[in-house]
Amino acid sequence: MKKFRKLAAAFLAVLMLVGVLPISASADGDKLIALTFDDGPSSSNTARLLDGLKARGAHCKFFLVGQMAERSPGLVKRAWQEGHEIASHTYDHPAMTSKTDAQIRQQLQKTDAILDSAIGQNFSYMLRPPYGDYNQRVLKAANTPCFFWSMDTYDWKSQNADSVYREFIKQARDGSIALLHDTHSTSVTAALRAIDTLQAQGYKFVTLSEMFMRRGISLENGKIYFNAYPGKNGTAPGIAKPAVNLEKDENGKRVTLSGDARGSVYYTLDGSMPTPSNAKKYTGAFYVPGGTVIRAVSVVKWNGIRSDETSMTVTARGNLFTDVKPGDWFYNDVDRIAAEGILNGTAKNVFSPNVGLTRAMLATALYRAAGQPEVSGELEFSDASAVGSWCRDALLWACENGIMKGYEDGALRPGRSISRAELGCMMTRYLVLSGKDISELEDVLSGFSDAGAVNESMREALNAACALGIVKGIGGGRLDPNGGATRAQTAVMISRMLDKI
Ligand SMILES: [Zn+2]
Repeated sequence: MKKFRKLAAAFLAVLMLVGVLPISASADGDKLIALTFDDGPSSSNTARLLDGLKARGAHCKFFLVGQMAERSPGLVKRAWQEGHEIASHTYDHPAMTSKTDAQIRQQLQKTDAILDSAIGQNFSYMLRPPYGDYNQRVLKAANTPCFFWSMDTYDWKSQNADSVYREFIKQARDGSIALLHDTHSTSVTAALRAIDTLQAQGYKFVTLSEMFMRRGISLENGKIYFNAYPGKNGTAPGIAKPAVNLEKDENGKRVTLSGDARGSVYYTLDGSMPTPSNAKKYTGAFYVPGGTVIRAVSVVKWNGIRSDETSMTVTARGNLFTDVKPGDWFYNDVDRIAAEGILNGTAKNVFSPNVGLTRAMLATALYRAAGQPEVSGELEFSDASAVGSWCRDALLWACENGIMKGYEDGALRPGRSISRAELGCMMTRYLVLSGKDISELEDVLSGFSDAGAVNESMREALNAACALGIVKGIGGGRLDPNGGATRAQTAVMISRMLDKI
């Protein structure tokens, strides 16, 4: 079985190298719906719609009216930046079959120019003819892929969120093109509710272009499309985000990127969002200085088929983090503590700076700082049997050396959130174990207005941590001894502690 998997993986890798994805072999069975919003952008509703789509990881296609886009270019740009597809719904919404070829072309050219200027790019835009009014002559004159719909909730007519929602759920099926209008607040409310319901049933909300690509249907100019129901081609996977890989060699920090084989990877190194005008196309390994933020996307088509973005910091010490950036107040200390293996990430390339720390996690960090000496014996606490093997040695070491203490009731409570007072005490005891003399330190603890909240047995050690500048006040003359500590705060404090040795 294992061998077969390896062979299959190698086969897939070869196919990906030549740019072909075996659709049936890798079909992920995604049920797809392409939401489309006509007649906007609406200065009263579209921002709320974009917020809701972002929160749900959903994408859609906007068929925009040129004269509306002219009034709200910021919304057009934002929609595109957030991964939605931008398309044309003509300049002023005429019935196209009553227009001459020249008038049709003029409607589209004028709108395209407005959309280009709003987004700041030079794209070609697909079309939905207003009222679904079209004939072969209109399609030919438009000379771009055109779209009808397969789901119509009559949202413009009812303007009732409950009824639009019910219709949406009733009509929804894999491969649908849903017609809605973000010019109505009720349609936005209904759409977001419908997304929640259908996502829970396994539906993915993608742009029209992505849905058709994943169904193996190529879109042609002068043709009109009604749906992308599942067919013989199956469903290709979604577009994968680029992966960032870092190696250190004699020339420095060498970065390689890999992305979806159906497109190309584009990236920036100056912290800006990758766009066609400022991103570099990835063609091979490159070197970066420490403190570089790489932002990368896999792109099949800039308007409509892009992956989510990968944002990765290459740190001075060669860590890769998605959630730690140069300029963060904890950047240097987190980089140091992670590079020394004292606090590891919570997942690959993820540090989780704002996540709180437990007693066991701090014991483990200090144990690693001490070089993980050999331990023996057993933990003698009432809850010892529940201690996970990942932290058992660290807790044994911490307890044997008096760095961590149990509670009066005989329990150790390793999973309990650490308090700032405990943190200070454990760090002081670590310093004493390392040979630091703390006997001559002045009393700074009494200077904090909430010093009375500190347990008597912890006062001396906590005072030392404060006097040495490891634990600092939180402002307003307070120490907040019973407050918790995040991983970032802990990294900063461990870094200060190590500087005292
Ligand atoms: Zn319309």
